[in-house]
Amino acid sequence: GVSAAQRRSASLEEAIRRDPGRFRVLTGDRPTGRLHLGHYFGTLHNRVRLQNLGVEMFLVIADYQVLTDRDVADHLTEYVEGLVLDYLAVGIDPDRTTIFAHSAVPALNQLLLPFLSLVSTAELSRNPTVKDEIANSRQSSVSGLMFTYPAHQAADILFCKANLVPVGQDQLPHLEVTRTVARRFNDRYGSGAAVFPEPDALLSAAPLLLGTDGTKMSKSRGNAISLASSADETAKLIRGAKTDADRHITYDPVTRAEVSSLVLLAALCLNRDPHRVAEDIGAGGAAALKRTVTEAVNEYLAPMRARRARYAQERTYLRHILREGIGRANAVAESTLDEVRTAMNALY
Ligand code: ATP
Ligand code: MG
Repeated sequence: GVSAAQRRSASLEEAIRRDPGRFRVLTGDRPTGRLHLGHYFGTLHNRVRLQNLGVEMFLVIADYQVLTDRDVADHLTEYVEGLVLDYLAVGIDPDRTTIFAHSAVPALNQLLLPFLSLVSTAELSRNPTVKDEIANSRQSSVSGLMFTYPAHQAADILFCKANLVPVGQDQLPHLEVTRTVARRFNDRYGSGAAVFPEPDALLSAAPLLLGTDGTKMSKSRGNAISLASSADETAKLIRGAKTDADRHITYDPVTRAEVSSLVLLAALCLNRDPHRVAEDIGAGGAAALKRTVTEAVNEYLAPMRARRARYAQERTYLRHILREGIGRANAVAESTLDEVRTAMNALY
């Protein structure tokens, strides 16, 4: 459950501070649009912090997975370059962090075959995040890719033997699939020695930020405040955000999800306690809340937006970053695939 994962994350933080060299991170995003505040406070902030602590990191741009809930990958080049820009804007350093697209790493994708043999269709069909995404999908039927993508994600994580995955709450069921795959592979083929680690999820303080409509903030649901939005666009989006009929602002995530998510957003940007932020607004109501959130978000994002605009002028550099990252990822994936084939001992 979420609270167990949160407790586990707290003790992982301890271990990371003691010995960052023991950890390797894999995390990433689908190139389906621009990154938003849900990404930032759900995972990007943690990624940058871990990178700066000296944890080795791989960032996957999950381009095959765009096709889980739509027929074709539209605007792919634009979205992939946009992700790299967002990464650079928030402080990812391509000299320390490997950024790659998984479609460009054949050996990684080949891991999907043995991994699929290690999970049952019953296990795949129980996954609550996949169910939710199917419900929100634009497609009338469920593709095999949608159904199996958590196993593909296990390949993304395990190809580089990552043992730490900073993610939002929606990813916890997928992390379970990865752990299951690693454990079963080791049991079946490891002959005593573990080939793969069983990676841990690292949750942030905001593992599920809501969008302007009160459901999970998502690139593809039209409810997101993207990091790259202008200050005016941001103001407009927040003005249109859903609130409730209660005039007095409080922070109560369980009973007042929409209002509390806005309070939390302001609190995260201001680095304050959300209860205090709500108290200060109090009788000011939704209008004052939205003013506070807009100012806090715009101020917080201003330096990132400026950096993003600067890097947007350097497309040759963006492509260079990807080429380098893909090269490094291929070398790692080929070595892992060799090890897997040797362990399985039944394949040419
Ligand atoms: P899409 O709608 O295309 O699926 P998305 O907004 O869900 O996009 P993903 O690329 O699927 O974004 O997710 C990337 C990472 O960001 C994952 O670790 C996910 O848990 C995290 N994340 C996404 N949305 C949120 C959110 N609203 N709150 C916290 N974390 C989030
Ligand atoms: Mg998603």
